[in-house]
Amino acid sequence: MSQLLSTHGLKAWYGDFQALFGIDFEIRPQEIVAIIGANGAGKSTFLKAITGVLSADAESVRFKGQPIGGRRPHRVVADGIAMVPEGRRLFPSLSVEENLRMGAYTKRPGPWTLEKIYGLFPVLKEKRKAPGTALSGGQQQMVAIGRALMSNPELLICDEISLGLAPAVIKEIYVALAEIARNGLTAIVVEQDVYTAQRVSQRLYCFQEGRVSLRGNSSDLTHEQISHAYFGV
Ligand code: ATP
Repeated sequence: MSQLLSTHGLKAWYGDFQALFGIDFEIRPQEIVAIIGANGAGKSTFLKAITGVLSADAESVRFKGQPIGGRRPHRVVADGIAMVPEGRRLFPSLSVEENLRMGAYTKRPGPWTLEKIYGLFPVLKEKRKAPGTALSGGQQQMVAIGRALMSNPELLICDEISLGLAPAVIKEIYVALAEIARNGLTAIVVEQDVYTAQRVSQRLYCFQEGRVSLRGNSSDLTHEQISHAYFGV
């Protein structure tokens, strides 16, 4: 199997409003692929369409060779795709450890356990009894990533995980993500920051007005190509 996930002419609508106009995308096992694009370009819509939050034609999304477009979100998690949502969305009344355990609600066989997540983010072990809301933004993001890992996914989808975090914390989060990829995981990251996106990924897609305006190996793309694809100038 060469692709872990691919989309073929993926379209999406909100009622009568068409937000995606035929996205062709692919990611191979253990790759980190970044998606960039201006506000409203369709990045979140793309993630919603591949995780079953928005409906999609069955054949327009394939995971491990199977058509999965239009499957319900819980089924998609059971299939092996986990999402780290924008804004982290922890359960405020639950402790760090309870938040992490919520991710094991749909647990697949695999290596990820609480102890392994504490090994990746030692600060979470120290704070395991604290409520999620007592953590810094970066620590909350670590919980959100750990919670997604608890289902033992094969594909991790991260929506703007660096939003609002200090540069040193962003670096720490992406070092952890690279470590996670070395452990056999594949990741799609939607990034606001173009330079971070280019640095942390092997390949990069730029979306513009519901279409792919650029794709390529992250290290080969020039700033000129990216800004042209991003702003359409
Ligand atoms: P951002 O960086 O602002 O999150 P994005 O690239 O993720 O942007 P989307 O949120 O996917 O963009 O939006 C794509 C298009 O779909 C935009 O024109 C947006 O206004 C529209 N859209 C998004 N969500 C909805 C919704 N719930 N109902 C109607 N239109 C929507």
